[in-house]
Formats: sequence, structure tokens, C-alpha cells
Amino acid sequence: MHIIEFNAYCAYYKTKSGLIKALDKLSFSIDTGEIFVVVGESGSGKTTLLKSVLGQCEYTEGDLFIEGMSVDDLSVSARNIGYVRQEADLYPHMTVYENIAFPLRIIHTAQAEIDRRVKEIADLLEIPWLLTRKPRQLSGGQQQRVAIARALVKQPELILFDEPFSNIEPNLRAEFRALLRKIHQALNPTILFVTHDLGEAFSLADHLLVLENGSVADFGTPAELLQQHHSVLLKGYLK
Ligand code: ADP
Ligand code: MG
Repeated sequence: MHIIEFNAYCAYYKTKSGLIKALDKLSFSIDTGEIFVVVGESGSGKTTLLKSVLGQCEYTEGDLFIEGMSVDDLSVSARNIGYVRQEADLYPHMTVYENIAFPLRIIHTAQAEIDRRVKEIADLLEIPWLLTRKPRQLSGGQQQRVAIARALVKQPELILFDEPFSNIEPNLRAEFRALLRKIHQALNPTILFVTHDLGEAFSLADHLLVLENGSVADFGTPAELLQQHHSVLLKGYLK
């Protein structure tokens, strides 16, 4: 089953000098429950691709389906999609508990259920001891764990990660990759993860798409891509 399907999909931005194309005729699909990684240099279109899935791109061509429905026909509130950005972007005046609970408060979840879900997700992210702190009392890595918990608390079937580990100290990144695998095993969501780090991409992906100037430069499983020695882009990365 495909959870997401791009079909000859293009996305543009409107600028003073006219429309510029950020995604160019993308056609690929993402299987339900897999970890799908998009890797590409800065400016290749990774964030635009995630914004497209969130229905935040105004000027588009072609089709994009989520669970068989066109994104154009899905209202934003009807989508239960988690989104983790590069910056943790927590609400500074709220405790960790309230930050994680916030998406549930918006939909008027009962307090007992909020309590249960926040505790469950805090356990999974290994941060129950941080629940009473404010964001400024946390390290960068801890803040990102809270941001991930907040994105997961509504139990989305699809979670988008936009270079979530790039602000984390290099020696902690392996720990975060392990955490991502643990989340995937525990909750079994589909994960769409974008990064400029090829090592990260190869270590996480079930399928990997290499994006170059808004187009698909390469696609396959990590093993398939490693066998393709003719791939100019991979040679560039793996010298
Ligand atoms: P990435 O996330 O891979 O760095 P982006 O998706 O942010 O790439 O950007 C893709 C292209 O679209 C880039 O050329 C970028 O300059 C352009 N772009 C992104 N956002 C805007 C915007 N709001 N207005 C105009 N151009 C944009
Ligand atoms: Mg980006």
C-alpha cells in the first residue's frame, strides 16, 4: 500500500521576477509504514517537498495523493500528520509537559487522556524526568526530543522530519538515529525524513530518493544505490 504518491508533481514559488520552479516533475510513491529518506543538498527542494505533503504549497502542477486522496481536497485539520523541524521551536513559556500536551489541548482531549498520552510518549522519548522544566532549561538535544514527542502525541500515521538532527552535536547523532528506529518500531508510523547527510540517509532508509535541483536524481533501497557505481551524485558524496 502506498500512503503517498507523487505524479508528475511540480511546485513553484512566486517571486518578484515571476514563478520559480522548486520541484520538477516528481513521480514516486512511499509505502505505508516505511522509513523513506529524501537526501539532497541545500536548496534542492527538500523542505518544499514536505510543505507539499502538508498542503502548504500554493502553486503546483501534477498530482499528490495521501492515502488515495488528493492533497487539494484535504483540509489541513483533517490531516493527522506530525512535523518535526530543524529548530525545536518549543513554546518558551510552557513546561515540557504542556508543550507535548498542546496538540491534544487544541482538540479538547480529556485531561486524563492527555496525562496518559504525554506520559507514554515521554517514556518512549526517554524524557519523563524533564516534564516539569521549561525549554530554556534544556540542552539542544533534549529540546529536539520534546519537539519529536509533541509531533507524536496525536499518534499520526505519517511523520515528516526536516533535517531534525542537523543542530545536534555530531557525537549524539547516532543516539538520535537509534531513537528514531525505536519510535518506528514502537508506533509503526510512516516516516518521511529529509536530510543533506548521506550517511544519515543510508543508515535510516528503507527507500532513498536523491533530490537534485528539484528533480529525482536517484531512487532505490540503500543496497541498490550502493551498487549503482555510475551514479554521479553518490560518487560525489562518497569520495
Ligand atoms: P532545501 O530544503 O532542500 O534546502 P527548499 O525546498 O527550501 O530546499 O528550496 C528549494 C528552492 O526553492 C530553492 O531554490 C529555494 O531558494 C527556493 N525557495 C524556497 N522557499 C522559497 C520562497 N518562500 N520563495 C522563493 N523561493 C523559495
Ligand atoms: Mg530545507
